[in-house]
Amino acid sequence: MSIDYIYSEFEVVRNQNRCTNCRACEKQCANGVHYFDNDKKIMLADESKCVNCQRCVSFCPTHALKIVKSDCSFRENANWSEQTIKEIYKQANSGGVLLSSMGNPNKLPVYFDRILINASQVTNPSIDPLREPMETKVFLGKKPSSIKRDENGEIINNLTPQLELSIPVMFAAMSYGSVSYNTHKSLAMAASKLGILYNTGEGGLHEDFYVYGDNTIVQVASGRFGVHEKYLEAGKAIEIKMGQGAKPGIGGHLPGTKIVGDVSRTRMIPEGSDAISPAPHHDIYSIEDLRQLVYSLKEATKYKKPIIVKVATVHNIAAIASGIARSGADIIAIDGFRGGTGAAPTRIRDNVGIPVELALAAVDKRLRAEGIRNNISLIVGGSIRSAADVVKAIALGADACYIGTAALLALGCHLCRACQIGKCNWGIATQNPELVKRLDPELGSKRLINLMTAWKHEIKEFMGSMGINSIEALRGNRLMLRGIGLNQKELDILGISHAGE
Ligand code: SF4
Ligand code: SF4
Repeated sequence: MSIDYIYSEFEVVRNQNRCTNCRACEKQCANGVHYFDNDKKIMLADESKCVNCQRCVSFCPTHALKIVKSDCSFRENANWSEQTIKEIYKQANSGGVLLSSMGNPNKLPVYFDRILINASQVTNPSIDPLREPMETKVFLGKKPSSIKRDENGEIINNLTPQLELSIPVMFAAMSYGSVSYNTHKSLAMAASKLGILYNTGEGGLHEDFYVYGDNTIVQVASGRFGVHEKYLEAGKAIEIKMGQGAKPGIGGHLPGTKIVGDVSRTRMIPEGSDAISPAPHHDIYSIEDLRQLVYSLKEATKYKKPIIVKVATVHNIAAIASGIARSGADIIAIDGFRGGTGAAPTRIRDNVGIPVELALAAVDKRLRAEGIRNNISLIVGGSIRSAADVVKAIALGADACYIGTAALLALGCHLCRACQIGKCNWGIATQNPELVKRLDPELGSKRLINLMTAWKHEIKEFMGSMGINSIEALRGNRLMLRGIGLNQKELDILGISHAGE
């Protein structure tokens, strides 16, 4: 008899006095946790299948349910944690690589939480954002080093193509296939109403979403899924994905079970075949090779689209960014090690990469030192959680941020971290038509718009309190930041002083 040695992680606590046996929990749970016991005439639960997505809790009409973390304890110690013991059992059972979704959950420093923002007092007045104009608009792309005028004194527009954003936040790459049609529709509709952009990820662009092209970044990844001339033409910008924060140095793998119907057509691969994107681009082994792809994409789109190069934050990120800036790319997207994912090898997710705050500060400093900061814009992503993170990222040198997990949370994600199973009960990370229907794109886009509207208000309040009235004046303005509880090395890398200094 095989024993898996692992007690269920969660327990379903059902208040039998409240439960009316309506079976709503059973209908809502795609994992098959709840069932009706005909002999006992009560609802029971198979807790080994529970991922704690909270769908049943939300839909129980009598509030009879709660899911709690099991307190069945392992004999853990400082070296052998419960998690480590369970992972050994799982690998001994399966012989396979452990897979996880969402970002690195480990207790590593979150530098955004150790950075505090300045406010004006007495000598430098703050600005009231309700009464004074505040500019949250940003433009991403190369900025010319000088203004040129024609013989009549008129300014010659020598700007390369720019992305205009009403706020310095965009929706990060999430591929159709890893997330559902309705997730993409919600993101596209919200981006278009907000005047920002969403990103196709590496799964191609469903034909229904070409109408949102002006608010779409189309991605070209190593697998080249769904990449063709019309696709490149459709987006406002093209992103070359070299790396992803959740799994630096690792390719993508979408299991064949998710390659069905429109996903297979959009990706241009047969139904049921695994979509495996290689770890490297097989035509890129140097900055010169990257430059060739950058210019091939520019050439293919008649130099009308900015080219973004996305990389994961790794040890020598500053030198890598300097190379990318010289490759002809217009924008660099750096993705921190807390960035989300539909599925990544757990060991890679939890041990590879560096915090985006340190990477961003190092990249901005290097590009400024080399005098090429204005040749390229910087987007940061990888667990941007609030307007405060956005403000801190911009003061550390970013032009804009990508949000992925925060956007999914707005759509109803409960961070159960089971995306890789494909049975997302909230209709987000699934291709099951019955589950996909659970996410209403109208409602989803409204919630995303609400979130961004709230952040916009908060960003304006932060700027007003600092006496700053534009994102442009905040960008790289480290005087507005102070570290708390950081050592000198960390402060030096971030380029900020300690609180009290
Ligand atoms: S949804 Fe609530 S009331 Fe209905 S069967 Fe489940 S626990 Fe009982
Ligand atoms: S998207 Fe769905 S499956 Fe993934 S973490 Fe969120 S709720 Fe869970």
